Amino acid sequence: MESAFGIFNLNKQLLTAIEELGYTSPSPIQKEAIPLILEGHDVLGIAQTGTGKTAAFVLPLLMKIKYAQGQHIRCLILTPTRELAVQIDTAIAELGLYTDVRHKAIYGGTGTKTQIEALQAGIDILVATPGRFMDLYLKGEIVTKDLQYMVLDEADKMMDMGFMPQIRKILEVIPRKRKNLLFSATFPEKVERLSYEFLEAPVRVEITPQATTAETVEQVLYETPNFRTKINLLSNLVQQDELQRAIVFCRTKTVADNVFHFLERKVLNKDSVRVIHANKSQNTRLNSINAFREGNIRVLVSTDVSARGIDILEVSHVINFDVPVIYEDYVHRIGRTGRANLSGQAITFMTPAEAYHIGKIEKIIRAEIPRRAIPKEVDVPSTPFDEQQAILREIDNQRKKEDPTFKGAFHEKKNKPGKSSTFKPKKARKGRRK
Ligand code: AMP
Repeated sequence: MESAFGIFNLNKQLLTAIEELGYTSPSPIQKEAIPLILEGHDVLGIAQTGTGKTAAFVLPLLMKIKYAQGQHIRCLILTPTRELAVQIDTAIAELGLYTDVRHKAIYGGTGTKTQIEALQAGIDILVATPGRFMDLYLKGEIVTKDLQYMVLDEADKMMDMGFMPQIRKILEVIPRKRKNLLFSATFPEKVERLSYEFLEAPVRVEITPQATTAETVEQVLYETPNFRTKINLLSNLVQQDELQRAIVFCRTKTVADNVFHFLERKVLNKDSVRVIHANKSQNTRLNSINAFREGNIRVLVSTDVSARGIDILEVSHVINFDVPVIYEDYVHRIGRTGRANLSGQAITFMTPAEAYHIGKIEKIIRAEIPRRAIPKEVDVPSTPFDEQQAILREIDNQRKKEDPTFKGAFHEKKNKPGKSSTFKPKKARKGRRK
């Protein structure tokens, strides 16, 4: 299936990786930044985590760097924390899977041996925290003469963490003739000053999620301990009369298919629900969307990515079966309900592993989404062992992301189901462990 990423001049290797990652359409920051970087502009990007900003610079950089060449670094990405360095390096590994581009994250708090070995073997893209970069540079392990691209990611955080003097030193030891990209979640004066120093005739790209959400839209959040509860709650909601037309957003194709089949078989009549995702042909998707638009079907199940960019008119209900990981999507989705003075509801289901993302979304919308208790008639089964383990693992990863010194509380063997849960459903009923 052709992907909407085809609009960029990316090569086959990158497009294949994008497809395998399940990205079907570029996020707004990607749409704007990728062509500019490919054209060779310095770019100033104001975008928060969760907007897809990493791929917005990693994809065009991979396109420019193209393949392994020489020993010395050609691209340097500076980040404030070790966690972010690892995250970016992972994105390079995923998106560059079908290229032979060599990359490595280097950061403090750990030995230098393997980092030095990798540098000696040859690196094309280096992701680094400023301190460790300077350490290894001064040791003569990093040669900057071939450097063509430099990225400062989360510049505001770097300023806040007092990295400015180190960044200045780094700028002194790298070639003047190079392309620069600066990404920052916010744009305070100090970042503006840095941008004058660092960028040459930059093009500014700004993705600021709307801070306010439509007033006619009621937002509701249910704390659902597990997948099964989400399914039970959804089937209860779609049977309510007030739900005239709803889109149900799911994170993956598999979840979307499961939800669709469940609704089709057990809850709704076959003609009132459809599913759209990347495995459906363009035609099938368009037919479903048109049928939905014309009011012939009540419920449209979609993956997060398929729905992006499609303007789906007015709906009475948006149901986030999964919490969106591109946080802006939350805001955009809410905008789909409650138009033209119709009142709408945006309903979100949240497992304990998704509470982290909800925290981030609430920061963006500057409001707490009101919690609502799960209706009494909805069965809340207890969480199966495997699902519970997966949830705990994800929570651990999130804590590590926020605090690089956090070693992790999750131990595969020690945990017994139920015991270590940090999230107790308020009303676990009829629960029996299998
Ligand atoms: P970031 O804002 O770079 O931290 O990315 C947030 C999340 O969105 C990451 O998990 C990415 O893998 C994912 N992502 C990035 N671009 C896309 C896209 N075009 N479609 C779907 N997911 C994406």
